Amino acid sequence: MNEILEKLPMPSEKRIAMHLSPQAEHAVRKRHPWVFRKGVASQSAEGSPGDLAVLFDRKREFLGIGLYDPDELIRVRVLQFGKQMPVDAAFFEGRLRKAAEQRLSLLRRDTNAYRVVNGENDLLPGLIIDRYAETAVIKIYTPAWIPHLKDIVNGLDKVMSPENIVLRLSNSIQSRPEYAHGLTNGISLKGSCETVVFKENGILFEADPVNGQKTGFFLDQRDNRSRAEALAEGKTVLNVFSYTGGFSIYAARGGALSVASLDISKPAIEAAKRNFELNRENNKIASAEKEFIAEDAFEALSGMYKAGRAFDMVIIDPPSFAKKQADVKNALSAYARLVKMGLNVLNPGGTFIMASCSSRISPEMFFTTVGRAASETGRRLNEIEKTAHALDHPVKFEEGRYLKCLFSTAL
Ligand code: SAH
Repeated sequence: MNEILEKLPMPSEKRIAMHLSPQAEHAVRKRHPWVFRKGVASQSAEGSPGDLAVLFDRKREFLGIGLYDPDELIRVRVLQFGKQMPVDAAFFEGRLRKAAEQRLSLLRRDTNAYRVVNGENDLLPGLIIDRYAETAVIKIYTPAWIPHLKDIVNGLDKVMSPENIVLRLSNSIQSRPEYAHGLTNGISLKGSCETVVFKENGILFEADPVNGQKTGFFLDQRDNRSRAEALAEGKTVLNVFSYTGGFSIYAARGGALSVASLDISKPAIEAAKRNFELNRENNKIASAEKEFIAEDAFEALSGMYKAGRAFDMVIIDPPSFAKKQADVKNALSAYARLVKMGLNVLNPGGTFIMASCSSRISPEMFFTTVGRAASETGRRLNEIEKTAHALDHPVKFEEGRYLKCLFSTAL
């Protein structure tokens, strides 16, 4: 066992008995996985991140058990609803095994990268595990996981024995090093943390588990990338917010004549070039004309419009614009601006694909904003399909439903 894990605090024996407000009680009964600070009516003791909070209703009946975090707005992340079981190594192994089994069918699709654990939606709240071939990347969003990390790593070893395990820490943990117990973002918990090559629907990509965005790749867009591939034949394609070229390479394999990848991140654009290169044996991917642009999307789109450039397919998959509730209004206007700028460089009858990954923007708000912005430019979007997450990103509660994507023909 890695000595870093040996040095971490052990899970505490302490249990914090917690009584909830009627509203919070109602939410937990409906299996909402979060208890907010204001939902705690009383608690038997103070605690440290990772202590277990046992939740009771007004009649002192057991409601659930969860991971306590004294400093976060989300005070408790629920691990068990209704029925009490010990929270120990065997419990975590069981949860991991169940999550892994649900993803087995993906492996048959010439794919060896997928989300093994999707946090709350796999009843392991605040914990993400993505697998890229033989490398597993664990990302934790609360220090409450740190005392339980050894159980997670051991469980993962038993369930899928990855050669390498890398740990990523959320910004909020990185900003509270006193809780990190020496763990740092990108640290190796097993094997190496080198860049890894994996396969998604037969296409090779690299992921850098240490410096890459999120855990190294955006696995949630896998099915949407396939849909773009199916629409790309014979088209000139612009992929805005391309990251490492995911949609671009699928479009090329789908028979696109040319593919331009645009992202503000130079390392992402360099990785996109390498990803194309990794797939040079595929004739279509090799023969599509390629262009790589490391620039701000808004500036580049406006420059292309001024230069009179236009494409047959425009894909826009921006980062989350609404990190907090107060950002929602600005986010909606940024989406509207992008729709207009994207349509400015799309030929009549072209394919327009637009995604949003902000959980605070509901599908309804998003699709309405996109449609309205299009009509303000005098174009109409004929819907082909509206989609959400891929199979390995199950959604079990409202806030988990972040991804939406519109496929349309712009008249
Ligand atoms: N479509 C990608 C994922 C996109 S994630 C895929 O399938 O893998 C969002 C991307 O937007 C990131 O790569 C980030 O570097 C990029 N980005 C953020 N702000 C940007 C801006 N102002 N202009 C261009 N790219 C930007």
